[in-house]
Amino acid sequence: MNAYTPTIGLEIHAELKTNTKMFCDSKNDPDEKRPNVNICPVCMSHPGTLPTINKKAIWHVLRVGKALGGKVSDYTEFERKNYFYPDLPKGYQISQYKFPLISGGNLNGVLVTRVHLEEDTARSMHDQHEHETLVDFNRAGIPLMELVTEPVVKSAKEAGNFARELQLLLRYLEAGDANMEKGEMRVEANISVSKDNIKGTKVEIKNLNSFRVVEKAIEYEIGRQTEVLEGGGKIVQETRGWDEKKEVTFSQRIKEESHDYRYFPDPDLPHLKISEIPEFQNIELPELPQGMRERYKKEYGLKDEDIEIYVRDSVYAQFFEEVVKNLLTDKEAIQFASNIFTTDITALVKSEGGYPKYINDKKVIASFARIAEMRKEGRVSSNTATILAKVILLNGGDAETIAKKRGLMQKSDEGELAAIVEKIIRENEKVVLEYKSGKEQALQFLIGVAMKESKGSANPEILRDLFKQLLTN
Ligand code: MN
Repeated sequence: MNAYTPTIGLEIHAELKTNTKMFCDSKNDPDEKRPNVNICPVCMSHPGTLPTINKKAIWHVLRVGKALGGKVSDYTEFERKNYFYPDLPKGYQISQYKFPLISGGNLNGVLVTRVHLEEDTARSMHDQHEHETLVDFNRAGIPLMELVTEPVVKSAKEAGNFARELQLLLRYLEAGDANMEKGEMRVEANISVSKDNIKGTKVEIKNLNSFRVVEKAIEYEIGRQTEVLEGGGKIVQETRGWDEKKEVTFSQRIKEESHDYRYFPDPDLPHLKISEIPEFQNIELPELPQGMRERYKKEYGLKDEDIEIYVRDSVYAQFFEEVVKNLLTDKEAIQFASNIFTTDITALVKSEGGYPKYINDKKVIASFARIAEMRKEGRVSSNTATILAKVILLNGGDAETIAKKRGLMQKSDEGELAAIVEKIIRENEKVVLEYKSGKEQALQFLIGVAMKESKGSANPEILRDLFKQLLTN
């Protein structure tokens, strides 16, 4: 039915983590709630003030560029992007135009056009007064990274995943927290749809403030454009917003062309030659999400879904890596450890609403590794492993001691189990007769009763063998 192909390009802004703002020494504190306290004559653009460049912000963008495999431009400069808006104290935004810091690169296959550095605008607050808009300038001048992709994204889901992956990357690089709900990362999408001879027109959707909204708004816009074209209409090149209540995009304004901004190099700022600035040489990166995925696959042989649990949660990852240290190269035990953790402990964390108290405790971590080994050796059932793991993570203690004390070790001792089996046979004459007359399910029932008798600690395979032995004699 829908033979239109969507073409999507993304523009993502992310605030960078620095002590001070991009061009002055006012504090960069995204958590400051009091309005207009982190401001100074420079970011308020008083006459006679001069901006100075925050090197840390450039360093962050260079690291992002390296992580993306982009090209660092050796020569770079800042330009003024002129437009009038109440949230822009200077009447222009200092940004980069002709010479972005980074050109090219890709993130998990999505091609990146450029990454540049600019300053954030102030925050307009429309909801404080009925007829007035208030402006909080704390945010004005905070270092802001802008990343633009090539128009290569093909679906709403892919766009959402790209934004998620960028957030993860920024966090790994400690370049920013990129919380979309807090406005620390903002997504804009350029969307067109086309079919054979019908070439689409690009529409921009702005202010997408959660991953869910990114996906919903793009999905909606693809549908809307398709419908307009199918009905013989024309797509207007414009900027649209997202109406959260109605879940539709709506027209905001007809798009300005970039030349309307009258970009020109900022005469107050020096041009930079990156290769001549010592702090920007030999930039090193930590392990990044993709590298971590590959390592977990190769070294531990975990499933992709399980790997993602660790990649997305550094507390889990740290716990797991410590467990692995206790298991050395025992790949099988490592996999048991991960299974116990990903199926049961992550669910526990969800239900408790926080990490278990002992998740960083060295002794508990060693004991957790022992549970994985006992599981591998068949000395505890999977049920018992779960119980033990929960108990030690919540309350501390040693798993093996607890297991022995509570009689939870899987009993594989045939003498001990034979006694249980004999007792069950004596007490369940009727069922035994049923089994002897050919009813196979009766055996399952007997094994169940025996398991119960052993408080779940018996090895069910051995029970089965014992019953068969004793009942065929
Ligand atoms: Mn921008």
